[in-house]
Amino acid sequence: MRKLTSICVFCGSSEGNDIQIIETAKELGKALANHNIELVYGAAKIGIMGLIANATLTHKGKVTGIVPTFLKLREVVHLGLTELIITKNMHERKLLMQNRSDAFITMPGGIGTLEELFEILTWLQLGLHSKPIGLLNVNHYYDDLIVMLQKMVEKGFLSKDNLKLLIIDDQIDTLLEKLRKFKAPQKPKLLTNE
Ligand code: AMP
Repeated sequence: MRKLTSICVFCGSSEGNDIQIIETAKELGKALANHNIELVYGAAKIGIMGLIANATLTHKGKVTGIVPTFLKLREVVHLGLTELIITKNMHERKLLMQNRSDAFITMPGGIGTLEELFEILTWLQLGLHSKPIGLLNVNHYYDDLIVMLQKMVEKGFLSKDNLKLLIIDDQIDTLLEKLRKFKAPQKPKLLTNE
């Protein structure tokens, strides 16, 4: 079993309007603190991002925020984090988020969240890292995205094996358990001309 000491969470910079998502964000923050897992995230004090960070801190957990200078200037950065790292740009931020984390969890969010999820999943598909990636499908939020991924397989744009790289669950504890059990493929399934 993998030891998880830090998890990077990708999620909305907005709070959205689904109370179940809002409550689950707080539960995730609490669960990370209780399991002694450091939260790594985008450093905002707003939205689902802020809710998770505050819940982790309230339950005496460690939180590292990583934010590029141009976002820090917008005064929405959480200034009460255990550690705040300022990067030159988004690319440096995402590389650092990857390096500092043992696993990734995506909670509900908007296009920024999707971009982060698919970049880290692409890197795993290419064998650039071997860390588990979870999708917390709270209250069916990602059902349509999962259907789209299945369509990619059906139409021959995504291999079944690569779809399995994304670990999907709607419960925090079972998702964490699956992340711990994840075994990265020996060889990435790269493109071939066969
Ligand atoms: P979205 O899902 O579109 O709300 O975007 C979420 C992602 O956008 C975050 O994980 C960050 O990468 C980025 N982001 C947007 N606003 C902020 C902010 N105020 N502070 C830090 N990151 C932000």
